[in-house]
Amino acid sequence: MKRCDQCKKTLRGAGHKTALRTLCDVCYAEYRGVVGGYMGSGNVGTALFTGGLFRRRAEREAKKKR
Ligand SMILES: [Zn+2]
Repeated sequence: MKRCDQCKKTLRGAGHKTALRTLCDVCYAEYRGVVGGYMGSGNVGTALFTGGLFRRRAEREAKKKR
């Protein structure tokens, strides 16, 4: 069974491959938020903040499905 490289949860499915790691849905959402935030602002602080927002949203979505 594969695990998320960030939070170590067991992946339900194949997970999401990034350049360096394999991530679960929630961590991948955060990763996308960080990348998108950085592209949009060029600012690391804003990028991390955006990543946090994406992560919380993905966690809410994950809970709804159960
Ligand atoms: Zn994860």
